[in-house]
Amino acid sequence: MATVTLNQFDKTYNPEKKDSFHAVKGINLEIRDKEFMVFVGPSGCGKSTTLRMIAGLEDITGGALKIGEQIMNDVEPKSRGIAMVFQNYALYPHMTVFDNMAFGLKLNKTPRDEIKRRVDEAADILGLTTMLERKPKALSGGQRQRVAVGRAIVRKPDVFLFDEPLSNLDAKMRVQMRTEISRLHNRLNATMIYVTHDQVEAMTMGDRICVMKDGNIMQVDEPLKLYNDPQNMFVASFIGSPPMNFFSGHCIEENSAHYFVESGSKQGAPFKVRLIHRLAQAARKQNNRPTVFGVRPENIQISEVAGDETIEATIDVAEPMGAESYLYLNTPTGKSFIAKVEANHVFNIGQSVHLRFNQERAALFDEETEAVVK
Ligand code: ATP
Repeated sequence: MATVTLNQFDKTYNPEKKDSFHAVKGINLEIRDKEFMVFVGPSGCGKSTTLRMIAGLEDITGGALKIGEQIMNDVEPKSRGIAMVFQNYALYPHMTVFDNMAFGLKLNKTPRDEIKRRVDEAADILGLTTMLERKPKALSGGQRQRVAVGRAIVRKPDVFLFDEPLSNLDAKMRVQMRTEISRLHNRLNATMIYVTHDQVEAMTMGDRICVMKDGNIMQVDEPLKLYNDPQNMFVASFIGSPPMNFFSGHCIEENSAHYFVESGSKQGAPFKVRLIHRLAQAARKQNNRPTVFGVRPENIQISEVAGDETIEATIDVAEPMGAESYLYLNTPTGKSFIAKVEANHVFNIGQSVHLRFNQERAALFDEETEAVVK
């Protein structure tokens, strides 16, 4: 069993010094046995620090790390049952692929024939069999990264740790390696923890995703749950591209119907949309508190007719993408937003359109706490 449990897991760099920095703020997380967990978040959110603490490359300054049933805080990295794959591959340039992969096993005094068996098996899985005698400089970026993964596989760890392993590869190779690592996870059935700042990698690879910001966990969920049911505005805007549109305003009740009313501006009249039952319930709770209406670009459609569930907007830029078009729009108050609509319309700059929000997929957030209101 290789569950990884973080309990009040905390990191302060340079504690008690002037330049001390609280990078990870007492996070709690259980990564399940055989799970592929992705840590994602913007630069500096603490995801690499968390991974490096699990690996034993950084001291844990507070809380506990458990792998299986054992507390690992003070256990040496090599005895934690983990193997890490780094962004920069960290291969020895003077060694062959075989020796790079065998290095850790040799240090552990693994018998020679066992080393050969394990390296051959990993090379076979990774398509490196014909390259075992080459040096790293004779390999492409993708092949080098495969060697780094192979070096982790031969150690048969309970937990694989990946720190942005695909960042140095070109876009095409990244997509290919992404599928290879997912396939590897299915084949090896090991617990894997993967750090990336790329939300597409996170969405496509993770069984679950842990979204971090400023050393805190913002939400941990399965990819589609994160996408469809974000708990706060940060997750709503970080997951999904282009990001979710946010409109500031407040909710009102008129003749037993609930409406969201955009904040006003000098430029033009704010929009007002009638809310469906689910959002009306949230609106009732908000009771005139500043509220944000969130809707993804793909959940805004062109409407032929105006009504109390549509808004009017002006097209600023139209980008035909082939399968769909991106419209950059402005509400009459001057608020910019994006819609992703079917490509079978022809759009003109400056054209005024009626739009309908798919409210089944929209959310209301409290403007102050940024938490979703349900
Ligand atoms: P990136 O994607 O840019 O690597 P990250 O989310 O992985 O970002 P971390 O590397 O975990 O971020 O860093 C978290 C914070 O801790 C950052 O603000 C960083 O400046 C700070 N930090 C990292 N290493 C040290 C260190 N050795 N001493 C002081 N502060 C550090």
